[in-house]
Amino acid sequence: MPWVITKLCAGNKDTACVPACPVDCIYQLTVADAKYEKHGHQLWIHPDECIDCGACEPACPWEAIFEESAVPEVFAEDTALNRQVFEDHSGDDLTTDCQPIKQAPTPEEVAENKAKYGYS
Ligand code: SF4
Repeated sequence: MPWVITKLCAGNKDTACVPACPVDCIYQLTVADAKYEKHGHQLWIHPDECIDCGACEPACPWEAIFEESAVPEVFAEDTALNRQVFEDHSGDDLTTDCQPIKQAPTPEEVAENKAKYGYS
């Protein structure tokens, strides 16, 4: 069962999860697509490439990554989006050379980001 990056990553993208992944299956889009930018740019896990190791989860300071079976209800749509983005895009539309937006957040910033979605 693959892991899922939720919209807690959106607009933040620390990118520490990227080098933690042993199979390089964490991507960002290189093209604009409003469907995937509703809350800001974020990273995505390719569900068919993920080997379910869990190494990315503790690397994310925004606490944005969950095992598919444990994705909080408030982020339920993100499970489908992590799959759909790879059906809508392929090749040069995606890269593992992910660029951060905001790294090393404070605990207050992490809590504030969660509160935006009513999640704590
Ligand atoms: Fe990569 Fe493992 Fe995270 Fe899957 S669970 S995205 S293989 S680090």
